[in-house]
Amino acid sequence: MQYTERYALDYRFSGQHCFPTRLPGPLMLNLLWLLLPVAAAAGWFAARRSAASRPDDFWSHSSNFHEGLNELLNESTALPGELFDNLNDTDRDTADTHLALGNFYRRRGDVNRAIRLHESLLEKSELGPQVHSAALLELANDYDSAGLLDRSEETLNRLIETGERLPDAYGALLQLLERERDWTRAIEVASEKERVTDENLSALVAHYYCELAQSAAAEGYADEAKELAGKALKRFSQSARAHMLLAEIASAGGDYQLAVNHYDQVELLRPALMPDIINARFKALRSIGDEQALRAFIDHIDGRRNAYSVVRTTRTVIEELDGAAAADRFFKKQILQRPSLKGLRDWAQDQISISKPGEKEKVQIIHTMLDKVVEDKPGYQCGRCGYLGNTLHWRCPSCSNWDTVQPIIGVEGE
Ligand SMILES: [Zn+2]
Repeated sequence: MQYTERYALDYRFSGQHCFPTRLPGPLMLNLLWLLLPVAAAAGWFAARRSAASRPDDFWSHSSNFHEGLNELLNESTALPGELFDNLNDTDRDTADTHLALGNFYRRRGDVNRAIRLHESLLEKSELGPQVHSAALLELANDYDSAGLLDRSEETLNRLIETGERLPDAYGALLQLLERERDWTRAIEVASEKERVTDENLSALVAHYYCELAQSAAAEGYADEAKELAGKALKRFSQSARAHMLLAEIASAGGDYQLAVNHYDQVELLRPALMPDIINARFKALRSIGDEQALRAFIDHIDGRRNAYSVVRTTRTVIEELDGAAAADRFFKKQILQRPSLKGLRDWAQDQISISKPGEKEKVQIIHTMLDKVVEDKPGYQCGRCGYLGNTLHWRCPSCSNWDTVQPIIGVEGE
């Protein structure tokens, strides 16, 4: 779960985190239904606590409240400027209202006002550490929304120093570092979070090491990449990504047996990644020159249902080894076991050359249509947010979760 989601749940007014910049009519009303109890509760508590000493203050808040809400009800395009601005109480209930309102301002895009509001809460030490830490977390969010990442990081570090809201603070800091691609610092912070919260973040830290390893490999530093991927495995022995990287590094260095061993581990740990490794794995197997091992691997694939990319690649290898007839037998058996549009398209393509003159054109049309359908289909989907794409992302570009994007399995996919 993203830190913003976790954070929003901590609030009494759990709906305020989802306002778009321009609120349509029904949403505006929803917002009001959420704000009204807040207003009522804060007003009632304030009245109960301070009616005896400052009755005039309460009634002035109340009228201010209603003026602001009235503006919202009228759906004026501008945010009601002075809504709640004159609240001066420093009790906890009013502070909660300020926090909720600051969050609301930020969601509406009025980050400056949100910052002012949260900073003003921080100046009131009498509100106590709970309000102080909530305001710091909100302020970090404000800076983040304003694109002031340095300030956001600095604010989160201030929060961590207080020892309050540590899981939220570390979570937000990690999100920020991930976006900045500061993987070295992310490893430090995640390790610190593990110490403080007892949470196991091995899989996440392994990804951070893999990010570093991938950059090193891309820049041609194979030894460094290997060392970093090794650290990823040391931290999390189940890291399919680290094995995949080590296989690629081994292949590039000509150690094909080592590459095959790592690819075996990838298959074992995350079979869904087979379409992404099948070409490289066959290439490594064939480079070793051990035909027995190659045939054993083909038998291993033939004995089960496979993703379509695996079927297609294996078919090519069988054709080279044993000829077209053996390859076709394997292909037909596999596509019938696990029908897919891609399989049907390629089968139609096979039929073009062997069709009778009168039928050839029809088969050609079917093939062209299937090709167009398949071309438009995304290959990967995030299991968490539904993001669709055509490349494997270790971290979902939409919801920022790790290991949630997978090849799409089924008729329309693999
Ligand atoms: Zn996602």
